Amino acid sequence: MTETRKVIILGSGSAGLTAAIYAARAQLRPLVVAGSQRGGQLTLTTDVENFPGFPNGIQGPELMDLLRQQAERFEVAFVDDDATAVDFSRRPFRVTVPDRTLEAEAVIIATGAGTNWLNLPNEQRLIGHGVSSCAPCDAFFFRGKEVAVVGGGDSAMEEALVLTKFATRVTIIHRRDKFRASKIMADRALHHDKVGVRWNSVVEDVLGDDKVTGLRLYDREHRAREEFRVDGLFVAIGHHPNTELFRGQVDLDEQGYVRLHKHTMTSVAGVFAAGDVHDHRYRQAVTAAGWGCMAAMDVERYLEGH
Ligand code: NAP
Repeated sequence: MTETRKVIILGSGSAGLTAAIYAARAQLRPLVVAGSQRGGQLTLTTDVENFPGFPNGIQGPELMDLLRQQAERFEVAFVDDDATAVDFSRRPFRVTVPDRTLEAEAVIIATGAGTNWLNLPNEQRLIGHGVSSCAPCDAFFFRGKEVAVVGGGDSAMEEALVLTKFATRVTIIHRRDKFRASKIMADRALHHDKVGVRWNSVVEDVLGDDKVTGLRLYDREHRAREEFRVDGLFVAIGHHPNTELFRGQVDLDEQGYVRLHKHTMTSVAGVFAAGDVHDHRYRQAVTAAGWGCMAAMDVERYLEGH
C-alpha cells in the first residue's frame, strides 16, 4: 500500500514538530514519521528553563507533548515508528516504514543527533538526576556544587567553562594526558581557578541512588581506583547525527551531519533538513524549532515553484 503526501517530515523533536506545525498551517497536510523513540533529545531532560514562553520552566517531555498536541490540532498525521529506508533518487521520494511505503514530493530530515554516552552501568538511570550532557541547559542546577566533566575536546572545555558560573569546583576528567581541544579553549579552561583536571583517568561508573553522589574513577597511570565525590557528571565526548539512513542519499559532511546547500535544502532538490541533524553548532531546542520553521517555509516555496 502506498500513501502519497506533499511533505513527509522525519523526526519528532522540536525541529520536526515545528516544521509540522508550519507545514500544516500552509495546507501541506504533512505526515510525521515520529520514530519509535518519539520526542527527540528533550525527552531525556528534566527541567527546561531556557525555552522562551515558560517563565517557570517546563519538563522536557511535557514540552514535547505540548508541541505534539499543537501539531495534532492542525491535523498533522503521525506514524509512531522508525523509517527503515528512504529513496531520494526517484520522484516522488520514497520513505519506507514498517507496514507500508510512503511517497512525498518533499521531505524534511529532522532526525536530530544523539549524545555519545559513556555506557556506564548507572549512567542512563541518573540522567536528569545529576548526569547531563548539556551545561547551558543544566549548569544552573549546580549552583554551589561540585561537578565533573568528562572529555578532552572543545565541547568538554566549553561545558566546563559554562559550569564555572555556578559550580564551586569543576573537574575535567580525561582519559589521556593531553587535550584534543584547541589551544585557546584548553588554555581558557586550564587557567580558570575553579577548574581542575584528572589526567589519564576513566570514569567507570556513576554513584548515587536517586541523585549523583560521586564517580568511580580509574587512574590509568597509577592503576588505582577511587571514589570521587561530585554532585554532577557532564558527559562531553561528542555527538553523533542520526543520519545512517541517509548515507548515499544526500551529502553528509566528514562527521556525518547533513550538509545544507541552499538555505535548508540538502544536495537533493526537494529534500530539506532541520535541527541538530545538520547543526552541530547551536544544538538548542529553540534553534532546532527555528530550523524546523525555516525548512517548512522553504518546502512551501519549493512546492509552489513545482
Ligand atoms: P571531539 O573533538 O571528538 O572530542 C571528544 C573528546 O571525548 C576527546 O577528547 C575524546 O578523547 C573523548 N572521548 C571520546 N570517547 C570517549 C570515551 N568513551 N571515554 C572517555 N573519553 C572519550 O568532540 P567535541 O568536543 O564534541 O567537538 C566536536 C567538534 O565540534 C570539534 O570539531 C570541535 O572543535 C567542535 N566544537 C567547537 C567548539 C568551539 O569552538 N567553541 C565548541 C564545541 C565543539 P581522546 O582525545 O582521547 O580521543
